[in-house]
Amino acid sequence: MTTKVYCYHCMTYHHPETMRKIVSRGQTRWRCIRSIEATRKDIAQRDAFGRQQSALNLASARREQERMRSGRRDFALRA
Ligand SMILES: [Zn+2]
Repeated sequence: MTTKVYCYHCMTYHHPETMRKIVSRGQTRWRCIRSIEATRKDIAQRDAFGRQQSALNLASARREQERMRSGRRDFALRA
């Protein structure tokens, strides 16, 4: 018989060797390493996405600046 431990994250039972003990608010709970890793990866992906987004924003802000500058130049030429 295999003893399984209840995983509060998955709300199911896993083998204890795949789990890690978590203490939260004075309560000892068990959570599987897989779900911990998945959450960590999720956060890393979100961070990467955020960085990518700000890089895109920066690029489009620069493009806009460039457009404004050349727009002014065109205006100056026409005037
Ligand atoms: Zn789990």
